Amino acid sequence: NQSWREIRRQLTYKCAWYGKRLVIVNPWKTSQLCASCGFDDGKHELSLRKWTCPNCGENHDRDINAAKNILAVTA
Ligand SMILES: [Zn+2]
Repeated sequence: NQSWREIRRQLTYKCAWYGKRLVIVNPWKTSQLCASCGFDDGKHELSLRKWTCPNCGENHDRDINAAKNILAVTA
């Protein structure tokens, strides 16, 4: 947690310095919500790298799905 806090502190002042917008995203559920339909598939163990949404049938790569969810809340 300490190193994440330091990274966040540095990003905050560097973004301010260069006039960039820094968006802090709560990572809660970013890897368990389907980026296509929003279905909450519940907790996925870290070892689970791919999953299929039982609601819409979309096949997900864990990290790409999470990236889409993060992008959606920052847009
Ligand atoms: Zn879905």
